[in-house]
Amino acid sequence: MPPHVLILGGTTEARELAAGLAARGVRVTTSLAGRVARPGALDGDVRVGGFGGAEGLAAWLREQRVDALVDATHPFAEAITANAARAAAATGVPAVVLRRPGWHPGPDDRWHPVASLPEAADLLPRLGRRVFLTTGRLGLAAFAHLTDLHFVVRSVEPPEPPMPPHTRTVLARGPFTVADEHALLREHAVDVLVTKDSGGEATAAKLTAARDLGLPVVVVRRPPLPAGTPAVPDVAGALAFLGLAPRRPGPGASGGTQRFV
Ligand code: NAP
Repeated sequence: MPPHVLILGGTTEARELAAGLAARGVRVTTSLAGRVARPGALDGDVRVGGFGGAEGLAAWLREQRVDALVDATHPFAEAITANAARAAAATGVPAVVLRRPGWHPGPDDRWHPVASLPEAADLLPRLGRRVFLTTGRLGLAAFAHLTDLHFVVRSVEPPEPPMPPHTRTVLARGPFTVADEHALLREHAVDVLVTKDSGGEATAAKLTAARDLGLPVVVVRRPPLPAGTPAVPDVAGALAFLGLAPRRPGPGASGGTQRFV
């Protein structure tokens, strides 16, 4: 029996890791929450839908004889990351969080960090009237009371109420180029941008475009990782954790790699 790795997915990195594991002959299952109706193709097996909390995930790990767990969910998917840490602790299954690094402002950026979507909504009326909101279609309720502002919302699937009354939807899936983002900001006369600190290349162009146009950006900070959970920044790090690629030497590197699969 080949070793079995469960990836908690929903990100580009999860897709790349599934391909990398399948190519190495590892049995890989990617778990998706089921929020997107037509997710792209994935290597290996795919299961869809919640597990029923940390206990449900722990039961699944045992039943499916999972040898290692990689939480490659989005940096803002806080509940499933907490559940994964608890399930790994309860079962003893080795687990790692694959979390891409966050973004950092440059000297010409006008960033306003906030802790949450409601805090972003509180701040917005002081910064602009025409908002490009890129925090995901499921978080629009936090802005629904801002009846005087005009919003452009970009998402893969159409948003549902509650949402602000003056909302225009742009249906699109990244990656986006800086030219795409300049065009969108100009077309809708945007004067403020709201984003989560998702990190990664696929959606970073909007930050460059906002900087070029001198626009303020409200940046929602990431929730912290569960205490004690090992984390790696990329697919190579996840493979190294699993013992499938050499760990790159760095300050404090401990040397050998424990083989989990
Ligand atoms: P969340 O709030 O952390 O999770 C809510 C519940 O959804 C979890 O308790 C779990 O249900 C289920 N769930 C979440 N991710 C799952 C997965 N990969 N496989 C199986 N069940 C999962 O999650 P979220 O923020 O709604 O994100 C849902 C998915 O969308 C994640 O897979 C994430 O990677 C992806 N995503 C999220 C964002 C974002 O901004 N939050 C952006 C892009 C992609 P049970 O307790 O029943 O197991």
